Amino acid sequence: MRAMRRKDREVTEPGKIREIIAACDCCRLGLCEDGRAYIVPLDFGFTERDGHYTFYFHSAKNGRKIDLIRESGWASFEMDTGHQVVSDEIACEYTARFRCVMGGGPAALLETAEEKRAGLTALMEHAAGPGPWTFGDAMVDAAAVIRLEAEELSCKELR
Ligand SMILES: Cc1cc2nc3c(=O)[nH]c(=O)nc-3n(C[C@H](O)[C@H](O)[C@H](O)COP(=O)(O)OP(=O)(O)OC[C@H]3O[C@@H](n4cnc5c(N)ncnc54)[C@H](O)[C@@H]3O)c2cc1C
Repeated sequence: MRAMRRKDREVTEPGKIREIIAACDCCRLGLCEDGRAYIVPLDFGFTERDGHYTFYFHSAKNGRKIDLIRESGWASFEMDTGHQVVSDEIACEYTARFRCVMGGGPAALLETAEEKRAGLTALMEHAAGPGPWTFGDAMVDAAAVIRLEAEELSCKELR
């Protein structure tokens, strides 16, 4: 992974990275089609173990992103939060605060109902808080659930 140019803005503290991810409500997947980027915003859930993040997304079973994930087995991602314009007397002194996470990793469509339920639970916990959450068989069958293992992850904050 390429090093961040502005080291002073890099976030490396694990607890802070988790806090920023938890505060984001939309994750954009970056997929590749014939050398061109396809960016698609999605709701997401996540699990974290020893600093390694797994992200989950749900979707219809068909469509462009599903085709591209099947084709390449890889997705880049980006999420951000905490936008705030900081004004000043002069335009060049304006700035905009943000907290942002990006990275990439292998992405796959989950096969078993058990795996899909685990992904959907992560999504619900992120969107709505601790469960228990239950999902009917027909709903689980109808949904595609994408799992992205974040092999690369960086976090940047402008305060
Ligand atoms: C904040 C947010 C959260 C979302 N959460 C989810 C989610 O959790 N699950 C989910 O399945 N979808 C979600 N969506 C919708 C998602 O962005 C896609 O529209 C949807 O997943 C279909 O993607 P696709 O690649 O299958 O689209 P397809 O219909 O196969 O794409 C075909 C074309 O439609 C256009 N298109 C597709 N999506 C969009 C879009 N969002 N805006 C403008 N043009 C578009 C593009 O030109 C694309 O090339 C969310 C959207 C937003 C803005």
